[in-house]
Amino acid sequence: MPAADPRQLLRHLELRLPEMLATSRELVEMESPSFSKDAVDRLGKLLAVKFEALGGKTQFHHVKTYGDHLQVDFAGTNSKPVMLLGHHDTVYDLGTLPTMPFRTTRERLYGPGTLDMKCGIVMMMFALAALNEAAGGLSRSVTALLNTDEEVGSESSRPITEKLAKQSEAVFVLEPAQGPQAALKTARKGVGDYYVKVTGRAAHAGVDFEKGHSAILELARQIECISNFTDLKRGLTVNVGVIRGGTRTNVVAAEAQAEVDIRIASMKDAALLEEKFRSLKPNDGECKLEVTGGLNRPPMERTREIAALFAKAKQIAAELGWNLEEASTGGGSDGNFTAALGVPTLDGMGAAGEGAHSRDESVILSELPRRTALLAAMIQMV
Ligand SMILES: [Zn+2]
Repeated sequence: MPAADPRQLLRHLELRLPEMLATSRELVEMESPSFSKDAVDRLGKLLAVKFEALGGKTQFHHVKTYGDHLQVDFAGTNSKPVMLLGHHDTVYDLGTLPTMPFRTTRERLYGPGTLDMKCGIVMMMFALAALNEAAGGLSRSVTALLNTDEEVGSESSRPITEKLAKQSEAVFVLEPAQGPQAALKTARKGVGDYYVKVTGRAAHAGVDFEKGHSAILELARQIECISNFTDLKRGLTVNVGVIRGGTRTNVVAAEAQAEVDIRIASMKDAALLEEKFRSLKPNDGECKLEVTGGLNRPPMERTREIAALFAKAKQIAAELGWNLEEASTGGGSDGNFTAALGVPTLDGMGAAGEGAHSRDESVILSELPRRTALLAAMIQMV
């Protein structure tokens, strides 16, 4: 099998940009919020047809609550596959398109889910097509997994992602690139949630004030303590993002709760935080404290293997006259799962742009061909 020449791939993909735009439009105009199974399944079927047209063998992993996950296998001469990982659910409700339509300007393409990550899926398709059309076919098997619950925590897809990753040589995650440099992501923080619930004792705030034990007051004290777990130098943050409690101003609150987001840069800190959360004690002995939750996505740590994979990507980019950078991020993705298994993972391989999850979500057009050429070359060279 001839080695892929990145410059040849790029020339080929530059000519195909109009088709990439047309396919992006098709995918974006099929809304697919995580919570609307029917809509997500409709898009999944369209994707299956498109991947089959490229020579892939498709199968759905059925899911009750969310859309069915789509797996596509491409046979290559080298049997251990490269895994392409993505998701086709979005955070936008049905009916978003009329007020946030798909549109293009000279520089950008706008619309719900363009950057995160329908254009990333388009890049997968065109990278595979380019290898068939301009590089003599696949020299490496490829497994693509498009899941439907990434935006809501990946609970049902995680076991499938992990199983396929373990069988793979490397994983490329087609999530958006990082920041204005459009860097690849070689490290991601681990993410988790804790829930802290305080039960106190209700009383009339006027008649029986002393009999009451305020859950709100107790929770407020706990929040101070919890917030002090943050250690910026270690890359460890704890954010109390939601609080609830009480019923009326004239009642001493019997109940209060907090929802806490945690981020860790190193797996070691998961146990440290767990220990701290589980050791919380009420200040008011009459109040009861209940702590649940924990780590959801382990951190993606920049291992030697990940650094080596990035070095390859950087070299290919250099052949295209492009200085590719790497970055770390506090946000989690399914790449956290695959990297935590020790499978070399490069994340942020998808589109470059801005405003994911916002009304201005957009993708930079000129970046699409070269990022797709990089992906194609990486599939062939790993
Ligand atoms: Zn995403």
